[in-house]
Amino acid sequence: MQITEHQLSLVNSRIEALVNSGSFYGKKLADLRISHVSSPEDFEKLPFSEKSDLRDAYPLGLMTAPESEIVRIHSSSGTTGKPVIIPYTAKDVDDWGEMFKRCYETAGITNRDRIQITPGYGLWTAGIGFQNGAEKLGAMVVPMGPGNTEKQLQMMQDLETTVICATSSYALLLTEEVEKRGLRDKIRLKKGVIGSERWTKKMRDRISSGLGIELYDTYGLTEIYGPGIGINCQYNTGMHYWDDYLYLEIIDPKTGKSVPDGEWGEIVITTLVKEGAPLIRYRTHDMSRIIPGECPCGSCFPRIDTIQGRTDDMMKIKGVNVFPNQIEEVLQGFPEIGSEYQIRISHVEGRDSMRIYVETTGDVDFSDLTRRIAEKVKSRIGFTPIVKAVEMGVLPRSEKKAHRVIDERFE
Ligand code: ZN
Repeated sequence: MQITEHQLSLVNSRIEALVNSGSFYGKKLADLRISHVSSPEDFEKLPFSEKSDLRDAYPLGLMTAPESEIVRIHSSSGTTGKPVIIPYTAKDVDDWGEMFKRCYETAGITNRDRIQITPGYGLWTAGIGFQNGAEKLGAMVVPMGPGNTEKQLQMMQDLETTVICATSSYALLLTEEVEKRGLRDKIRLKKGVIGSERWTKKMRDRISSGLGIELYDTYGLTEIYGPGIGINCQYNTGMHYWDDYLYLEIIDPKTGKSVPDGEWGEIVITTLVKEGAPLIRYRTHDMSRIIPGECPCGSCFPRIDTIQGRTDDMMKIKGVNVFPNQIEEVLQGFPEIGSEYQIRISHVEGRDSMRIYVETTGDVDFSDLTRRIAEKVKSRIGFTPIVKAVEMGVLPRSEKKAHRVIDERFE
């Protein structure tokens, strides 16, 4: 999706603000003698920004507005190294709230709803982001924060909460507790807004049917405001995102070149109006694609697909980009196999091959099952894998998804 004239002019105002402030990115742009972009081609020559750069700017190197205008910071904690600190002006906080309000509206949530917020409050952007948008909408917020499931369920019943905001894993836990305690008839939930975490269709269906609610997926990351920069609508055809605040590109993570709409690649985000810490061409390492065409809901906002994983998960097999998620989703369509699986990729006689091991019980016809799975995988990723069925319990158990994929080509 090419950058528009209007978006370009907003980018230029951000470049100007960065350079004038002498902030971390301002200095970088000044060193490269960049002060202006005049065409989409020019824009695509702007350097990318990376999370590691943001860490180097610790603690306040990203601050681009005068300190008197900064009203808050948020922080994303990495598993390694220094955290990233993002300063926000009052306008940034307000813009973020507007975007999140739009998310709720897109999900059909109104000021008559009662919204229970379970993600954490504090340095990270989750809880408070859900809250700002809900207050702007005029809904009644129940700001629970995480944990204390006992109290969550009590409030949910007593206050007749209609919307639950949660991570997918906490929503699943609540689903199990509601079932265990037989509370389904005592709760009034209608909708769930789930923060950007990777989750599978199986999990989604489980939560949706267990709680009897419609689910909405919101996208976002701390470096770019936080959650609430996009959400799916009732037609569930991907997530609409707010292109008046953000410009999204999809690039090939290997070459850095833009890919055509509809093709998978890495999401790169430019903030168009952010003041506290504007970012130009920020590499998210999240994999998605622009969904071409119009959504049946009639919204003018463009769409990205459900996040398929991180660039680090991507495997190039026989020249095709494949994600473990895609295979997992296909496997979940087969009730006769267990949830464990293993993918092995090898390079034999000059050719890549992919083997998928699945578990099943002895009373299933192995050869028929593996043929059907291979066909389904082919229709999803474009080439036929070798599928092998083994007895239930044979594959190694692991909590980490990464351990289920073994790439023997690089061993
Ligand atoms: Zn729509």
